[in-house]
Amino acid sequence: MIIVLRPNVTQGEIDHVIERIHELGLKPHLSKGEHRTIIGVIGDENKIRAEPLQAIAGVEQVLPILKPFKLAGREIHQADTVVQVGRVRIGGTAMAMIAGPCAIEGAEILDTIAGLVKKAGANILRGGAFKPRTSPYSFQGLGEEGLKMLRDVGQRHQMPTVTEVMDPRQAPLVDRYADMFQVGARNMQNFDLLKEVGQTRKPVLLKRGMSATVKDLLMSAEYILAEGNPNVVLCERGVRSFEDSTRNMLDMSAVPNVKGLSHLPIIVDPSHATGRPDLIPAMACAAVAAGADGVHVEVHSCPEKALSDGPQALLPARFAELMDRIRKLAEVVCKTL
Ligand code: PEP
Ligand code: MN
Repeated sequence: MIIVLRPNVTQGEIDHVIERIHELGLKPHLSKGEHRTIIGVIGDENKIRAEPLQAIAGVEQVLPILKPFKLAGREIHQADTVVQVGRVRIGGTAMAMIAGPCAIEGAEILDTIAGLVKKAGANILRGGAFKPRTSPYSFQGLGEEGLKMLRDVGQRHQMPTVTEVMDPRQAPLVDRYADMFQVGARNMQNFDLLKEVGQTRKPVLLKRGMSATVKDLLMSAEYILAEGNPNVVLCERGVRSFEDSTRNMLDMSAVPNVKGLSHLPIIVDPSHATGRPDLIPAMACAAVAAGADGVHVEVHSCPEKALSDGPQALLPARFAELMDRIRKLAEVVCKTL
């Protein structure tokens, strides 16, 4: 339910409406726009009848929320959400450049890569300690040892960190070491995991599942928001298609599509979307032009020796060239990096 308040509503009237919503055992979500204040009401709508609320002073209209993603949608939250990861802001006019290796392989190599991506202009360091590998015989990640390396290297280079959490049981451990959770494509509908990270207030990078629709993605975000964690950043990373010359099919239209439906920031990962370093720079630039709130790129100083996703890793020098292009584009689309 959306309660639209009158333009001249007083604070006392707003407080009274909120009190009534609490009395009904429902949760109010206040959203103060430039012209209007609205209150979203989430919960069992059978508990609420429009007419009595309509009678409260200051209330202009009571409307149903039409979309199934209520907290993630723009109906009750019109302004763009800005998510803060350490000192980095994502959303609104602020863009994030997330870069680093696919997997954390050792402290020294992580430190080298972090130094190079930071110098090029990246502002968040990525690296997986728990890797969702297609084969059980592939490198699975360094676990807690890797998380410690990520924390230490991130601190040394003054970069907040993001790393994947694959299982609800890993959440407290990852929470201890990283600044942002990553929920990977394969776990986008791991609802227990979504609820677990929703119980924290740590930012979550939620990647689109490889066969998930935009609506599915927003419904997964809804799980996190419904638990009380408002800090969700969405990520388009390509979906499966018949095309086999790229790893996935990058759905660039998801960026403006999501922007129309949701207030949440959305970034693009051209590394997993294309799987090809020769295509990553063009797709990263296209993402910025399409209005993305950031780009997520895998970088490795020696891709041939990488333990995971080596063939798609961008060399640090190519990443630095890409950053030069992105800085220019950011200016054109009025974003800051
Ligand atoms: C990753 O970021 O390393 C990763 C596994 O991504 P995705 O979940 O998008 O495949
Ligand atoms: Mn990867």
